[in-house]
Order: sequence, then C-alpha cells, then structure tokens
Amino acid sequence: MSTSSKFDHAVVIGASIAGLLAAGAASKSFEKVTVLERDTLEDKAEPRKGVPQGAQIHALLPAGLKRMQAVLPGLREDLLAEGGAPFDEAASVVALTGAGWRLRVPGQEWVATRRPLLELVIRRRVQALPNVEIVHASVAGLEVTEDRSKVTGVTLRDGSSLDADLVINATGRRTKAPDWLAAHGVEAPAESFVNAYTGYATQFVRLPDDALKHGVIGLGALPWPGEHRGIALFPADNGTHALTAVGMMRDYPPRDREGVIEFLSESTTPLSAEIARKAEPVSDVNTYHIDGSLLRRWNLVPNMPDRFLAVGDSAASMNPIYGQGMSLSAAAAVLVMEHLAAADDLDGVARAIQNDLAPILDGAFGLAGSTDACFEGAEWSDDFTPMSEQDAARGLAMEVLSTQRPDVSSTVNDALYDLRPEDLETEEFIALCDKWIAEGNEIPPVDREHYPTSVTPLDGTA
Ligand SMILES: Cc1cc2nc3c(=O)[nH]c(=O)nc-3n(C[C@H](O)[C@H](O)[C@H](O)COP(=O)(O)OP(=O)(O)OC[C@H]3O[C@@H](n4cnc5c(N)ncnc54)[C@H](O)[C@@H]3O)c2cc1C
Repeated sequence: MSTSSKFDHAVVIGASIAGLLAAGAASKSFEKVTVLERDTLEDKAEPRKGVPQGAQIHALLPAGLKRMQAVLPGLREDLLAEGGAPFDEAASVVALTGAGWRLRVPGQEWVATRRPLLELVIRRRVQALPNVEIVHASVAGLEVTEDRSKVTGVTLRDGSSLDADLVINATGRRTKAPDWLAAHGVEAPAESFVNAYTGYATQFVRLPDDALKHGVIGLGALPWPGEHRGIALFPADNGTHALTAVGMMRDYPPRDREGVIEFLSESTTPLSAEIARKAEPVSDVNTYHIDGSLLRRWNLVPNMPDRFLAVGDSAASMNPIYGQGMSLSAAAAVLVMEHLAAADDLDGVARAIQNDLAPILDGAFGLAGSTDACFEGAEWSDDFTPMSEQDAARGLAMEVLSTQRPDVSSTVNDALYDLRPEDLETEEFIALCDKWIAEGNEIPPVDREHYPTSVTPLDGTA
C-alpha cells in the first residue's frame, strides 16, 4: 500500500454511471480499484447491451452534475468539449401541468447530453485515473467469510475469484446481488415499489428554427392523472434533441414515427404533435416499458455482511420521468468519497454509507411514488402510503402557484433539481399552499397551445 492510500483494494461491479462514479470516489482512498464489467466497452458514445435504457432520453439534474463534478473535477468541461450543451432549464424549457404552464424563471445550469455520451465521458475520466482498472468480466457471486461477517471478494463467471477489501455493487435494477448474498444465507433486501406503468418512445431529432419560439429550447408536458399521454422534448448534445412520447397506465407509445405523432396528437398539448411533425429524425424510434419505481432497503438487511455496498439502480430505480437516477448514483458516489476520506479503517464504513444513502433514496422514492400513485390503477407495495387528500390539495396549490409566482416556480425547481424534496415541506411553503386552498381558489382555465413567451425575473418585475 502506498503512503497516500489508506486502503488496499476495492472492487466495483458494473461500469455504468453508478459504478464508474463509485470507482472514481473510491480511487481517492484505495491503492487500487478494479471495475468489473460484463459488456465489452468501446470508446464510442452508443447504447450498449448491458444498459438497454441507453437509447432513451436522459436528463441530468443539476444535483447530479454538481456531485459528479465533486467526484471527477473537470467532467463538465469534458462534456462541453464533446458537444454537451449548457442551458438554463427553468428559463428555457417550458413545462405544462394540469395547473397550467410553469412560469419561466432564471435557474441553474444544466448540461444536455445523450446518456451514452455522458457515460463515455465519465469512463474516460475514470480510465485516466492511475489506480483504476476497468476489466471485462462477469461476476457470478460473492465471497463471504464463513461466519457471514464480511464480504471478501467476488466470484467470476469463469470460476476464478478476486479478493477485495470493499465490494461496491453497481449492477443496475436487475441486479443479482440479492441472490449472490442469499447463497450465503443473507436475507434479501425488502423491496418497495410504486408502478404507474410508464412507457417511452424516444427518437433523437434536429429541430428546425421555427419549431420552438421566444428562446424556448425544450418542452415538457408530461402525463397527469386522467391524461395519460405526454411529451418530453429535451435538448441533447451536438445540436440534437430527444423527443420522447410518454404514456402512463399501460398506454404505451408505439415504435414508429408516424405512430408516435398520432399518439402525441392525443397528448396534453397539441403543440407536441405539431413539433414532432416538424422534427428531423437522426435516430430510430426506441421504446421502453418501465416497471415503476423500486427501492431496495439494503440498509435494513439484518444480517448484512460488512464490506459490501449497493449503489445506483441496484439500490433504487425510479420512474425516470422524474429524472433522478443518475443524480442518485452521483449522490452515492459523494457519500463513498466522504466516508472513505473520514475513515481510519474499513469496518462499518459500508453500512454507514448505506445508512446515509437511505434517506436520500427514500426522499426520491417518496416524490416519484406519491405522484405516480395518483394515477388511477397504479399499484404499490403494502409498505407505501399514498398522498393524503390534504397533501394532494397542497400539491395542486403548488402547481398553480408555480404558474403565477416566480418565487414559487423557482423554489419548486430547486427542490426537484437539487434532490431536496424537504424544501417543499417547510412551514413557510406549506402555509403558502394552505392559504391558496383556504381562499377557495381553483385551477384557472389553461391555454394549452401557448406557452410563456418570456422569462419572469425572480423579483416579479416585468
Ligand atoms: C427509460 C429510462 C430513462 C431514464 N431516464 C433518466 C433520466 O432522464 N435521468 C436520470 O438521471 N436517470 C434516468 N434513468 C436512470 C438511469 O439510466 C440510471 O439511473 C443510470 O444509468 C445509473 O444506473 P446504474 O449505473 O446503477 O445501472 P445500469 O446503468 O443499469 O448499469 C449496470 C451495469 O452493470 C453491468 N453488470 C450487470 N451485471 C453484471 C455482472 N454480473 N457482472 C459485471 N457487470 C455487470 C451492466 O452491464 C451495466 O454496465 C432512466 C432509466 C430508464 C430505464
């Protein structure tokens, strides 16, 4: 072990976004980090087999970008150099809900990128770290001490094994880690879910100049209860846009361009089909069905061996319309970095990280789950409590106020984009919503064909 590294060897399973970020984080405290990936990785920004969602729209929240930068400084500049596009989502992407168009306000910087490009840029940064090695290998199990107190390494599909002082599982939503642990008598993590049966059909496009006006570069008009068809039109890298038809409650969009336009003609705004018709395709249409939000409560497994940690989608995989997944992977990586930096020895560190990650994942799951549970016919696990009528009324008040008050629009954006749902539960914010309810207000008529033409300053001056 070198004098600068406190610990010897960490193994990360999975070289997708969560695994790469965790490897970058661990590399600051370990002599060596080995990342094991079953896919053959190529130096190109294209979807790959092990990440089937790669061809779908991916929005990176500022929460994720900031945390990725904290783990891998310089990443933002790398992204920009590869055609990632900086933009202010709150000011330039118009959003329609059942309560109307959210006010456009000045907000934080986002960087638009297709997911495979983001993964490639992260991978190049991680590959450049002298003590990280990415190895093509498929993991088939875990090595655990006989008394089940510690994970000591991984077993590979070829029968060989690799010792590790810490194993980080980043094998995605369909992880086999619960089975690997069960083989050693460890209980599977309890799973919570909420499923509103979301489907995507994404095509990458170029937009002609007249598709959007008034400085607007994207449009989100997602489904809401009672209206199951919507659109997410979001900037991507190198002058392209992701155009995604979104369907809820098994109203899945089709796989062909004409079918998508037809589907969008019955969506929440007529603008969707109009823009889709003008868009020039640069990819095929790819569809994806999402089995709702899933939370694995790894921190509550009673007989969990030490030195094992689950991050990324293997810990929590949300309905992606809330755009949280990659940012939650980044949040986990920051915890890995901080806990390892503070630790003198590794005992108990994995559990401490998993414990600190739990409330972050819980908050994200609560946000996605309680919104999805409002769709009639949505299903959820017994341990999930849907929103009360009072909270639903407050949610509506919040949406209406976001169309009228720049300060509310900004607070809501920051809470969602910085993964701080607690900001919507402050006394002051709740009082504001309750006042709107007490005044007997209702949703004003909504003009779905015309979005706001200007950005409202935060002080409300015209
Ligand atoms: C349709 C869709 C749209 C999404 N949109 C967004 C969005 O807008 N914004 C956002 O932030 N997030 C979004 N997400 C979520 C996002 O894709 C994930 O959160 C993100 O990719 C992180 O996932 P991960 O790294 O944990 O797992 P994955 O990306 O699933 O990767 C798992 C990796 O582990 C490897 N692996 C698996 N098993 C083994 C094994 N046994 N041995 C070795 N390697 C193995 C796989 O090959 C793969 O590389 C979306 C997800 C979906 C499904």
